[in-house]
Amino acid sequence: MKFDLDSVFIEHGCADSALATRVLRALPRDVPVTHVGDNETREAARPASGVIDPFGAGKRRLLIARRKTPFLMPCPAGSSKFACCGYLVLTLASNCPMDCSYCFLQEYLADNPAFQVYANFTDSFDELDRLCANAHGRTFRVGTGELADSLAFDSITGISRDLIDFFASRENLTLELKTKTDEIENLLDLDPRGRVLVSWTLSPDAVYRSSEHLTASPAARIAAARAVLDAGYRVAFHFDPLIAYLDAERDYLQLIDELLEVVPPKQISFISMGGLRMTPRLRGAARSRFPADPMLCGEDVLAADGRFRAFTPLRLSLYGSLVDRFKKAGAEIPAYLCMEPASVHEHVFGAAPAKAATIGERLARG
Ligand code: SF4
Repeated sequence: MKFDLDSVFIEHGCADSALATRVLRALPRDVPVTHVGDNETREAARPASGVIDPFGAGKRRLLIARRKTPFLMPCPAGSSKFACCGYLVLTLASNCPMDCSYCFLQEYLADNPAFQVYANFTDSFDELDRLCANAHGRTFRVGTGELADSLAFDSITGISRDLIDFFASRENLTLELKTKTDEIENLLDLDPRGRVLVSWTLSPDAVYRSSEHLTASPAARIAAARAVLDAGYRVAFHFDPLIAYLDAERDYLQLIDELLEVVPPKQISFISMGGLRMTPRLRGAARSRFPADPMLCGEDVLAADGRFRAFTPLRLSLYGSLVDRFKKAGAEIPAYLCMEPASVHEHVFGAAPAKAATIGERLARG
């Protein structure tokens, strides 16, 4: 196991699940396990009282419970205010054992910070089959890395193997496993049949060292990408959040050069970019948990969507530099912006964004 746990809670009715069995088998003996009823499950998910950092403590408390609401939903980052990539989110877990200072989960999960993994995750396959039945020839890109990292703790849950088996046999679905780990061992002996892509969020070393606690280093993420590519997976990369610190342009371009030395551009399915954005509540929570992080203290402005962002000309300049560097590498790599308005998209790519469904289809098919 690569991350520490303080405790494990298992909801009544989940003790015999495949997930609980796998976790208990892999768990170090000194981690206490408690079985809880429905009402206590809610309590176990809540912030602990009497601790200095309830959100951080929640990350080390694993809760295995049934998900009682749908697993599949449109990406919560989607909005009529932004150009959208047509991504569908499959929520199989909530929260993450890593601890990035800028992570939006610090706000989104402030009231339910326990690291929850859903014992009935295979019920999500019925939802996906219903989606396919009404697809009328469309192809969907479905990801598990929105409210959790897709592969953190995969060494003890093994969920990736169930997912890959399922998606490999569905013609109009593409699975995206999004991660900042190098936890890829479960993937290497499976055949994804072209229907699984693994994506990494990449940041320069300066951001990794100051802000991405417990994650794999950028070099380790790139090496893991090469390994899954060789095992038959597609790969993609997210430069998100793109942080406009002093020397950012130099560092991001160097990072791209390091990436392209290992993964040639024609083998990259797509890239995405999105500037650091924080609601006032998230910014407050992040700065109070990580007061010494210089990446959280750049100059920013409250934008029309209610989030603090780097000034638009600065974001445009960074996006433009990254796009140019990929173009110079000699292959057309599909690219999109996350949570940016159509006007920014037009400025960066010289064209209005396509409809979400069209972009989703393009990214899913590769
Ligand atoms: S790896 Fe992703 S989900 Fe985990 S803390 Fe960092 S930003 Fe949040």
